[in-house]
This record gives sequence, structure tokens and C-alpha cells, in this order.
Amino acid sequence: MTTTPAIFFGHGNPMNALYQNAWTEGWAAIGRTVPRPKAILCISAHWYVPALAVTAMKRPRTIHDFGGFPRELFEYQYPAAGSPELAERVAGLLDGDVYLDDRQWGLDHGTWAVLCHVYPDADIPVVQLSIDESQPAEWHYELAKKLRPLRNENILIIGSGNLIHNLHAYAWGKRDVEPFDWAVRFEQTARDLMMSDDHSPLVNYESLGKDAHLSAPAPDHYLPLLYVLAQKQSGDEVSFPVGGFDGGSISMTTVQIG
Ligand code: ZN
Repeated sequence: MTTTPAIFFGHGNPMNALYQNAWTEGWAAIGRTVPRPKAILCISAHWYVPALAVTAMKRPRTIHDFGGFPRELFEYQYPAAGSPELAERVAGLLDGDVYLDDRQWGLDHGTWAVLCHVYPDADIPVVQLSIDESQPAEWHYELAKKLRPLRNENILIIGSGNLIHNLHAYAWGKRDVEPFDWAVRFEQTARDLMMSDDHSPLVNYESLGKDAHLSAPAPDHYLPLLYVLAQKQSGDEVSFPVGGFDGGSISMTTVQIG
């Protein structure tokens, strides 16, 4: 049986929704390469709340969860359908321990700023799973393993965050600055661990020292990576189809499992 890949996207600046650059072109190429999925389950850094919830509405709204960007970005719509069926399936896999949200959330920019390039026609249903901010990294990694059967049902599991995300050090408006030494080191450490299937240090990333603290000063953008790594099974290839840094302190790395 062929299994659907699981993919972590480094989404970076929300303006990537409107840009055409090497990252967005890389995302579009993934959409053309990966077999077309039946539906998408996305774990976004931007639905980081003290609850475990899954979007269950038929028509999720496009959420503009940011400030200080041009009107064009606030007017952007990604009209993908939801999938109450997939929401129910996810709830079942997670032992029912999840809130079926049929009216509040929708698709936040962690999801649509990437998917608008991967699937520009918005013709694949999308469901989001929240990140329960009250739980430690290990809990998320173990929870995510329960989603593995979805890969045999042609559901594309996506994590959207950034392997390295430090906005304090980010060079706003200066795209071409060199990445910080700590960012380059942590990127290499993380890639080596992923290539050798050594997930334990990545789950316990807070024990990886100062480079890790600077790279993931808050868990929200890092945890979606663990949801994707947890899908790895023997025989799956690991690849990095998109890479590079933005503003010196954001890694745009994409991680593909399978
Ligand atoms: Zn973000």
C-alpha cells in the first residue's frame, strides 16, 4: 500500500502568501509532485491554545491572524472546504479527547499562506488540529503518532511552523542578511538528527543547549515539526525540498517524510 507523505512547512512571513519567491515556488512544486490527497490535516503554529480542538465546519473561514500588513493580505481568501468527516475521524483516532469546533476557528495564515501555493485552486478539503499549549513536547509527539493511520487513507498531514523562529533577532525588511551562527548550527544539528531518525533529542529540544533556546524561544512554531516527525515509519525517506533562512533568524526548511 502506498502511504501519503507527511510534510512540515516553514511558513515564515505571512506576506509569502502574496509573494513569488524560491520558497513559494518550492511549495508549488511539492503540490505538483505529491500524489493528490483526499483531504489535508494541518497543525499550524497559529492555533496554539489551551485545548485540543479540530475544525469541523463545512466552510472554514480564512482567518487573518496578524497585524501591520497590507490590506491586500487582509482581503486574501483561501476558500477550501472543510471536512466534518475527517474531523470525526481525527477525533476517533485521538480517542474522542478533542473538541469538535464547528463555528469558531477556521484556516489561519499558518495554513493558507502555504496552501495557497501548494494547492492554489483550494479544491482539497482542509481540517486544522490545534496545538494544546498546556502540554509538553513529548505529549505532542506521542499524540501525533495516533494520526499515522491517516497516511493510509490518502490524508496529507501538514505541520506549519518554523524549525527556527526568533522574531527578536529577525531583520525586518532586510531579507538578504546572513543567518546567525547559532541558527546555522541548530539547523545542521536538527537535520542530522532527522536524517539519522534520532527523534528523542528533537523532542527534548530544550535540552539541546543555547542554540536550541535561541532557535525555538517559544514552542509554537517548533511543535508542528514534531507532529510530522511522529509520522515517520521504517522505510520512509526524509528529505528537505525547500530550505534557506529569512531575516537571519527564521529557517524556511521544509521537511518531507515519505
Ligand atoms: Zn508563523
